[in-house]
Amino acid sequence: MKIGINKAHFPVTVLGPGRRIGIWLQGCSIRCKGCVSQDTWERDPGREMSVAQLMSWCRRVAGTDFFGVTISGGEPFDQPKALGALLDALDQWRESAGLDFDILCYSGYPLATLEKRHSRLLQKLDALIPEPYVDALPLTHRWRGSANQSLVTLSGRGRARYAGFVDAPADASTKCLQTMVDGDRVWYVGIPGRGDMPALEAACAERGVRFDDVSWRS
Ligand code: SF4
Repeated sequence: MKIGINKAHFPVTVLGPGRRIGIWLQGCSIRCKGCVSQDTWERDPGREMSVAQLMSWCRRVAGTDFFGVTISGGEPFDQPKALGALLDALDQWRESAGLDFDILCYSGYPLATLEKRHSRLLQKLDALIPEPYVDALPLTHRWRGSANQSLVTLSGRGRARYAGFVDAPADASTKCLQTMVDGDRVWYVGIPGRGDMPALEAACAERGVRFDDVSWRS
């Protein structure tokens, strides 16, 4: 089974609890105004890989020393078959290796839509952050970009790990971005505040560092 991937990274520490494998899927049909990940919007066959290849990368980079997997995008539920294959492969790994990692997934679809169209996929997740990003609403809660987005627990493991975070506010200690450098590309991972990315761009320009292309502007 092929899956369209924008990027994958380990460890991610700003999108869910603990050290996590981060997987960003390529392609998003929702296209929220103000999205900072516009590089994930277009479907791109050149970014496809097999789920088996992705799993082998996960095993190689994370070993057994990690707490969870975060799947984001792009829109993971725009690739429902591939997402299902990935979730099955992760669950099989968890069972066969005796691991206890959780799986958190982001989606820009409303919870009611996901429950109606993808209830079987939801059964494979421990926690979900649904609903589209709304630029006009403030960033109020940990790991969420706008106040309409909820944190939903979907399993016993999810309830044990995430119940204490459902109402957790975003504060200075949680508003963190990770930075990764890959050749001449720089990736920022996390939930930036309103205006943070243009402010970062301006601060870099003042120091003589210019970005040729950015994902927060089309
Ligand atoms: S915020 Fe998420 S759902 Fe919305 S356009 Fe960006 S990638 Fe798509």
